[in-house]
Amino acid sequence: MAGRHSKRAGAQVGIPGQRGMRPVGVIDARTRVEHLVSERSVAAHRQAGCYVAHCGAVVLAASLTEPGLGRCPECVR
Ligand SMILES: [Zn+2]
Repeated sequence: MAGRHSKRAGAQVGIPGQRGMRPVGVIDARTRVEHLVSERSVAAHRQAGCYVAHCGAVVLAASLTEPGLGRCPECVR
């Protein structure tokens, strides 16, 4: 019984091959500046509540409704 079509698990979302590489904007609760954090870093630091941004800054995640004061120039470079 050779299947002509390989079964695909329906649970997968996202872009194949790009997983963990997409940067996520996280607003620092202290400075209100939005830093870019990789998804991988988000997953690794979620429980701690703070993330390491691309620029090396440790970001204390603000509430999602918090308005940002702009993006970190180091992160968007
Ligand atoms: Zn930054």
